[in-house]
Amino acid sequence: MEIKADTTVCIGAGMCALTAPQLFDQSEDEGTVLVLQREVPPELEDTVRRAVTLCPSGAISAT
Ligand code: SF4
Repeated sequence: MEIKADTTVCIGAGMCALTAPQLFDQSEDEGTVLVLQREVPPELEDTVRRAVTLCPSGAISAT
């Protein structure tokens, strides 16, 4: 599973970083999503799916 993020639609809500802090952070200046690790370890796949569901702007996806 690999994470894709579109910072042009991210509204900086921070749900991704709260849900999966191992994989997501937010930029200091704009608050938009930073992907710390694109390749998702198997044990974090459910967590990433939850983060994708909780993101209010649809900025992140995982396939
Ligand atoms: S949850 Fe979505 S909108 Fe919020 S910071 Fe993460 S990617 Fe951006």
